Amino acid sequence: MSHSLLFLGTSAGVPTRRRNVSATALVGQNAKAWTLFDCGEGTQHRVLASRLSIYHLERVFITHLHGDHFYGLFGLLASRAMSGAVTPLHLFGPKGSKEAVSTLLRLSHSRLPYALKIEEIGPGFEANWPDFRIRALSMAHTVPTLGFVIDFPARPGRLDVQKAKALGIEPGPVYGRLKRAERVRLSDGRVIDGKSLLGPPLPGKRLAIGGDNQNPMLFAPYAPFDVMVHEATYLGGAKERMLAKTYGHSTAKELGQSAKAMGVKRLILTHISARYDSVEGT
Ligand SMILES: [Zn+2]
Repeated sequence: MSHSLLFLGTSAGVPTRRRNVSATALVGQNAKAWTLFDCGEGTQHRVLASRLSIYHLERVFITHLHGDHFYGLFGLLASRAMSGAVTPLHLFGPKGSKEAVSTLLRLSHSRLPYALKIEEIGPGFEANWPDFRIRALSMAHTVPTLGFVIDFPARPGRLDVQKAKALGIEPGPVYGRLKRAERVRLSDGRVIDGKSLLGPPLPGKRLAIGGDNQNPMLFAPYAPFDVMVHEATYLGGAKERMLAKTYGHSTAKELGQSAKAMGVKRLILTHISARYDSVEGT
């Protein structure tokens, strides 16, 4: 099963007219259930504008408790209740998440019709699900912050087309079934086991999702990565580098250099300062 990422918010600190604050969805291709990484204020509005439904939200990971990553959670939890969802929601966040969420729910007399399981996690946390394995590591920011390494399961090997042709199997929809390792009965009565025509399993892909972080090389022990999603609050000038150090953030320039050193195949920048929207005069 392949997954996709949906960027519900890519702005740092404050929303802009075009971009909301931090929220990234990880969506399985064949399943409605999805996972959310960070939940800045107004994230539920961005979900409404997407193909996703909070009804099917299954897990939420919060990298740290700064407002632009966290303040949207309370409204989202309440709206999920209003949507009639009864399936459990599993929330993972740093120390303090339990107190913050339970206090808000108590003071607002909210009653959730679904089970909300809150788990406070730190570096070293690991969970294994059929769709992926996730591990948490510590980031370098102004408050305790987590980043995540996500491993997807190995994929079936490639179909050996030459071998299939040599067996006299004509190309067509049957190739798709063989590729899925199905047992197929051909028109001449022969039964072919797709597995016998597949090469060795392909390794699963590895994804990195960073929280706010001024040192991308903290991901190095887990390198290389197929995809890395990482904040780049600032571009890369001298003044911006100073701002990045002061506020515990990365510049696009330093991030690019680190990603190259770590063998990142595809780097996706997010948490980009609102200042760059006005550069384009919008
Ligand atoms: Zn932050």
